[in-house]
Formats: sequence, structure tokens, C-alpha cells
Amino acid sequence: MSGDRDLTDLFVEEARAVTVGEAVERLGVAGLRPAGIGESVGPCPVAGGRDGFSVNTVKNAWNCRRCGDGGHDGIGLAAHNLGLDVKRREAFLAACAAVLGRPVPEGGAESDEARAEREAALAARREAAATRAARETRTQADFRERERRKAAGKWLQADGKELLAYGYLEARLGLGRRVLPVLPALRVIAAEPYWHGTGEDGRAVAIHEGAAMVLPFVDSGGTVIGCHLTWLDPSGPKGRPTLCDPATGERLPTKKMRGSKKGGLLPLVGFGLHADGRILPDPARTRLVLGEGIENVLAIGVAEGFRADTLYAAAGDLGNLAGPADGRSAFSHPELTKVGKDGKARPLRVAGPVPKPDQDAGDAVQAPAGLTEILLVADGDSERYATAAAMLRAEARLSAGGRAVTIAWPPKGMDFAELLSGAGERRAA
Ligand SMILES: [Zn+2]
Repeated sequence: MSGDRDLTDLFVEEARAVTVGEAVERLGVAGLRPAGIGESVGPCPVAGGRDGFSVNTVKNAWNCRRCGDGGHDGIGLAAHNLGLDVKRREAFLAACAAVLGRPVPEGGAESDEARAEREAALAARREAAATRAARETRTQADFRERERRKAAGKWLQADGKELLAYGYLEARLGLGRRVLPVLPALRVIAAEPYWHGTGEDGRAVAIHEGAAMVLPFVDSGGTVIGCHLTWLDPSGPKGRPTLCDPATGERLPTKKMRGSKKGGLLPLVGFGLHADGRILPDPARTRLVLGEGIENVLAIGVAEGFRADTLYAAAGDLGNLAGPADGRSAFSHPELTKVGKDGKARPLRVAGPVPKPDQDAGDAVQAPAGLTEILLVADGDSERYATAAAMLRAEARLSAGGRAVTIAWPPKGMDFAELLSGAGERRAA
């Protein structure tokens, strides 16, 4: 009976050589979908489901999460699919027969003819396996190339969106394309809803959705505490959409601040993004150009050629730039009046030029450590007296510690961005 034994051993040996990929083909496993390099997923042929069953022809492995079974050979896969218990000899041989696609041999030593046939079949299988391996390699290369293109596409898309923000800023400043330095914290959200008011059901209503430029408010420790949004529309006035209250028709601002801004600044140029998520000033820079609005600070940067020793940042609004006032420094506006409850008009009281003593670091934007010089950029299109008092407050507050603080005033009724863009238009003409 040793002949029988040899023939069965050869049969088993042959079955052990069947790869997982070959077994999948031979067993006709249905419903597999490609899911990665050499990997396919689908329903378990026994237990069903959606994607609990997977085979990997590169790793020569199969796994079934539903049955809690898996392995690295075709016999085990056949046993799983056909419900065969490989611990039993007959069942094991039946699994071998399944992966080989022919019955378990019965009796007799292998004849010369049969051996030649088997060896020819083995050679053909090895050749087919080599062809398949070459195909897998090509598929892997294709897969990697597709992934690379997808990744590149994402980056290009993101770049394109940020270019929208650069395009907006450069148009506002009257500049040609690509003259602004990199603003490392600048991002664009492709579709940001603009919430305004509530509907009949009491829920907030988005009256607009579109691209928005976003810059983070960063506290003195470098942590993002809020953000500043500017909705963009290249075809709209000043590059921004026209937004109106649906009920009153009143024009709405195209800029909004979210989260917290007090004590934080909007980093523009000279800041670095750190791996821990913090945004910190380049410590080698000892000068700061700081203003209320992003565009005005950038206008100064363009005018002075974005100095390598300078940080450029915005405070977001005048209150955050100036900080709270000492109530005793309040003064009456020389022209503007306010009608009181008694119906009489009195001069408008304006917050004064003296900073409130004992302020909190969270009350207004703080100067980064190590600065020796600050240029404050005033916004000339705001109310002149209140702005002047606020700028003096900022000057007094930020010159603590012996820093040299200067205020740059644009011509009356203008801001620096308009001044620069006007100059830009004249140059182009
Ligand atoms: Zn299963």
C-alpha cells in the first residue's frame, strides 16, 4: 500500500503549493472588490456580510472576521469556504481536492504517464503563477501611481484654493499675482456657510455658502483660540460677496470672527507652524508691524518689502489692538453727539488714550517676547477721534518694557490697502 501512500502524499504536497490567490480563482469566490495593494474584500462565502472576508494575494493570506478564521494557504481557505474540518483526514483531503480541482487519488502508484502529466500541469501552474505575480507587480505599481496622483491632486486642489485667498489679497492691494510672501497660517475653506438670523423653527439660517479665507487667532503661547473668516467672491465688490439681511435688506459684513480673539493675534508673515499645532513667531525677528486689519498690515509689508527682521500680524479689530481704556481718560467728541433718554443731544463720550491699569493678558493683543520695535498701522477710514485715542492706548500699552512704538497714519479717509491699490492702478495705467 506504500504506492497509495506516495500518491496521496504527492497530492497533498501539490495542494499545499496552491496559493491563496489561486484557491480564490479555483473555488470561485464571488463578490470580492479590490481594497488595496493585492487585497480584495467581500462577503464571507459561508457567513455572508459585506466586507468581513478578505484575501491578500501579495501577502498570500486570507482572513474572515465573521468566522474568526484565516491563514496563509489555499487548503485552509478551501476548508473555510466548504465547511471542512481539516483536523479530520478525509475532510483535509477533500480540501486539497477542492484547491486542486480534481478528486483524491485512489490506489496504485503513480504511473510514468500520470507523473509526466502531473509535472507538466505543475510546470504550467508555476508559469501561470509567475505571470500572475508579474501582473500583481504591475497592479501594485498602478495602484501606487494612482495614489500618488490622488495625493498630488489634493495638494494641487488645496494650493488652488489658497491661491484664491492670495488672489483676493493681491487684488485688494492692487498687486500682480504672486508678490506676497507665503502666509503660513492662511487657509481657504471651500464652502463655508454664512449663518445669519434664525428661521421659523428657531434654527440658524445660512444665507450664503462659499469660499472663505481663514486665519487663526493665536495666543501668546502659540495656541489657536479662534479664527477670522473673510468670505471671498472674485466677481464681487472688493473680491467679496454681497451679503444682505433677507428681512431688512441691510448690508452684512463679509468678515466674521469665531471663537475667542481677545489677547490673540492673526499671524501673517514671520510665523512658523510647529508639529505640536502651535503657531509661533520666528524668534530672530525683533520688529512687529501690527494693525487692525489683515489687508492694511500686508499693504505696509508690501511697501517696505516684507523685512526679514519683522513679524507681520493683525489684531482683528481696534478693541483687541488698543485694549481697555482708563475711564478717567474718556473725553467728549468735538463734533458727534448722542441723544440721551431725556431727548437732549450731548457730546459723544469717547474711550480715552490712557490704558486701563492692571490689564489682563487676555484683554488685548500681546507683543511677542524679544521685540524692540513696533509699528502700529492705523486704519484711516474709521472714526478719527475714537481711532486716534485707541491707537494712543495701543502705543502706551505696547511700549511697556522700553519698546519703540510708532503709529503709521494713512491719509484722511483712506486705509493703507486702498492707498497701495490706488498707487498700483496708477502704475499699471
Ligand atoms: Zn467566514
